[in-house]
Amino acid sequence: MSFLPKIFPVNCYFVEENDDLTLIDAGMPFSFKGIVHMAAKIGKPIRRIVLTHAHEDHVGALDALRKEFPDVIVYISGRDAPLLGGDTSLLPTEPNVPIRGSVPRKVTTKADVFLRDGDRIKSLLAVDAPGHTPGSMAFLDTRNNILIAGDAFQTRGGVAVSGKLKPWFPFPAMATWHKPTALESAKKLCDLRPSVLAVGHGIMLENPLAAMIKAINEWEVGPNLGQPHTTKE
Ligand SMILES: [Zn+2]
Repeated sequence: MSFLPKIFPVNCYFVEENDDLTLIDAGMPFSFKGIVHMAAKIGKPIRRIVLTHAHEDHVGALDALRKEFPDVIVYISGRDAPLLGGDTSLLPTEPNVPIRGSVPRKVTTKADVFLRDGDRIKSLLAVDAPGHTPGSMAFLDTRNNILIAGDAFQTRGGVAVSGKLKPWFPFPAMATWHKPTALESAKKLCDLRPSVLAVGHGIMLENPLAAMIKAINEWEVGPNLGQPHTTKE
């Protein structure tokens, strides 16, 4: 399988299935060419585009890709689907803090499938990971336990939970909607015990569990203080 981080400093990923490709996130508008080129290089068609969340830097090439590949199926969480269309209203059950970050204003593509926690997209398992946006999702490749976490974590500027400001790359933290929710999601993702952590911003990390736990503990209590977070057996 190919698992290729694409465009710096925003990543998108190809997940290779037997006959085709799933693209996770659609980068910036200028990412279009690179995505098409890479798919051709792998030699399989892009059949699915799965979005981790509806921020502009993750959906930039979506309309162009839909135009190029009209049959592609677009997936996003039911909760972030309205956000993809620019609707920032909150649900009555949600913490009453405004959604942050660059919400798309001009994306015309509508998702075909509204994902729920536990859904499968070929080899991928969809996992609710709200906090960065209300409907953020992460995707676990069930063949190898590689986790594509979107902006629930970042590794650029140091491994961090969404919402924890890393001075060398503060943008994901600045764009995070609700930090306590993001922290709960980070713990949940830790419990998946990923073999690799792949994120929207930063490098892929192999054997990331210790770094993820450290990031959670830093977030909660500051460095080197308090009870370490341990994962479920
Ligand atoms: Zn984001």
